[in-house]
Amino acid sequence: MISGVVTMVILLIVCTALVYPLAHVTRPASLGVVYLLGVLVIASIWGLWLGILTSLLSAAAFNFFHLPPVGRFTIANNSNWVALITFLVVAVIVSVISELARHRAEEAQQRRAEADLTADMAQLVLSHAGLEESLGLVGQRLAAVFGLRWAEVSLDETASEGGRRLAIPLLTRGQPAASLFVPADLPAATLGRLRRAAAPALAAILTSALERERLVAEAVQTEGLRRSEAVKTAVLRAVSHDLRSPVTAMIAAGAAIRAPDVSAAEREELGAAVQEEGSRLARLIDDLLDLSKLEAQAASPQLAECSIEEVIEAALALQPPGAPFEVRVDPDLPLVRADFVQLERALANLLENATRYAAGSATVVRARRQGDRVSVRVVDGGAGIAPAEQERIFEPFYRAESGTDRTAHAGSGLGLAVARGFVEVNGGRIWVESAPGQGSAFVIELPAVGPAGGQS
Ligand code: ADP
Repeated sequence: MISGVVTMVILLIVCTALVYPLAHVTRPASLGVVYLLGVLVIASIWGLWLGILTSLLSAAAFNFFHLPPVGRFTIANNSNWVALITFLVVAVIVSVISELARHRAEEAQQRRAEADLTADMAQLVLSHAGLEESLGLVGQRLAAVFGLRWAEVSLDETASEGGRRLAIPLLTRGQPAASLFVPADLPAATLGRLRRAAAPALAAILTSALERERLVAEAVQTEGLRRSEAVKTAVLRAVSHDLRSPVTAMIAAGAAIRAPDVSAAEREELGAAVQEEGSRLARLIDDLLDLSKLEAQAASPQLAECSIEEVIEAALALQPPGAPFEVRVDPDLPLVRADFVQLERALANLLENATRYAAGSATVVRARRQGDRVSVRVVDGGAGIAPAEQERIFEPFYRAESGTDRTAHAGSGLGLAVARGFVEVNGGRIWVESAPGQGSAFVIELPAVGPAGGQS
């Protein structure tokens, strides 16, 4: 508004100055038209009231500076009166017409913004992954286009309006599916436009977004069922082979041990074989149970602050005596918040694999802090794993084709799947870094709790 007043003063001065040279060419009484330029500019940019004020001040300036007697507000003859009044009437009409044109232009602009808003809202809602999150942005866009202090879209159709918020229901298939909340003190015209233009468009967009979410959920469920079917088939296959072979070996050893001509040394050997096959069976059953719990999302961790150093010690204690492990733990390693037993199981599986697939080379277990996380690396000097298999080995029942000689190491392909399951339910990550022929580093990373030194 201030800029309007300043422009008005400048235009009045310019128009007044412009009339002086023109007065030599024609009668001053007919030069009031020069002031109409200023009136036109002011009315079309700043509206009717400033336009009328400009008309009045122009009439005064025209009279004072150009209509005889000059330098006074009086007027000498009647024809000048006619000129002045005609000027004033024309100036006011010009103001009114400019105001109307300005109003039309503003309305057209608003309609265009509203039409663009529909496209914007559709883009925000349909291209965003999370519907809830995109609704926040839709609220902001709506508020900007309709000049509201705020606007909120809520999928909770039971959310009620309060003293200062008004709810516009958004209907999908005739049922309220969401609400648009706006300030209660909105002008009736804005509220009408919101109800007529924005609400139906937004409701239609939400209908397709909700439909899409439903279809995605259905697809995920179908995929889940397909996967659990695949897991069941794989379990049956593993059960028929992996469970059967230790049992067959144990039955055979049991029968042989009872034969009358068995020497003490042979008995010793058969006893060791029964024990070894028995523990292989026990491990397999443990892995199967753990995996089925993880698949059923029933492996909820008992979270507590634990020391990674103690987890490493416990996992090492589960390894066969004499296995070559070198442990390096950073001093002042922070604690992690996790289920001690689940972490111990995950790490024990990695240590066991290192012993089985990298026999002969020492395995290094390295624990250190990495920013706000703690990592444990199990590094072996074994055959390594081909890049194409580095993700697949974490799938249940998958056993790598490359590097290791599968037939030489009995296994069911469950150890890493269980390790990944346990690490992830505890909020961590597990992966392998490896190159064929150069060994493997299996890494577990977990969020650290509190500062280094073990205080939380
Ligand atoms: P399993 O050892 O019973 O086969 P895992 O899930 O523990 O099952 O391992 C899956 C596969 O990953 C193994 O069959 C093996 O091919 C590969 N693998 C695991 N650990 C190592 C390792 N340290 N070095 C080389 N290959 C490994």
